Amino acid sequence: MNPVIGVLALQGAFAAHADSLSRCGATTCEVRTPADLRDVQALVMPGGESSTMSQLLESSGLFDAVADRIASGMAVFGTCAGMILLSSEILDGRPDQRSFGALDISVRRNAFGRQIDSFESDIDTPQGTFHGVFIRAPRIERVGPGVEVMGSLRGEPVLVRRGNVLAASFHPELAGDDRLHGYFVSLVTSAAPAGETGAAVPRPGEPSIHETIREG
Ligand code: GLN
Repeated sequence: MNPVIGVLALQGAFAAHADSLSRCGATTCEVRTPADLRDVQALVMPGGESSTMSQLLESSGLFDAVADRIASGMAVFGTCAGMILLSSEILDGRPDQRSFGALDISVRRNAFGRQIDSFESDIDTPQGTFHGVFIRAPRIERVGPGVEVMGSLRGEPVLVRRGNVLAASFHPELAGDDRLHGYFVSLVTSAAPAGETGAAVPRPGEPSIHETIREG
């Protein structure tokens, strides 16, 4: 059965994510309300403006609903602003901006190195490169214990994971390369038994991103 993966569609770059997920075999649905969220197994949080998304998550009633689903082990993939939403600490955020704390990382908004605007660059993973499109990208300034760095750019983490929570500071949906979405779909379909989701250590049989990248 195809997994049903929602794409948070309150604001930002959600359409390209749905296209990429569909090409990877998922059924997708746009999530704007708590009722939409009930129908999905996993959620992608797109790029956009994290402070606006935070406000819209609260006004739509989705913030608490998403937090509850993450706490009960739903797989999530956040890109750029979506990564900010998943982080445990936002630096240079708006004072009222909230995040889910699903990944123990500190991220600084709009602060990737000295290049604060857009740039493209290859990202190193142990098995090769992935083309990264960075648009006013957040910089990961701290990675907590249990968070695995899966990709880096000039030595800085840009792709991180803990269990089935995956986050990228770039926009994989704009790279014309579906390998990361394919990897996320495989995380969703190989969901751990209840109580084990969020485990820091990959479980036996769990697909590794390195295999996915090699195959792609
Ligand atoms: N700068 C945006 C923010 O802070 C993120 C940019 C993006 O998602 N491309 O929310």
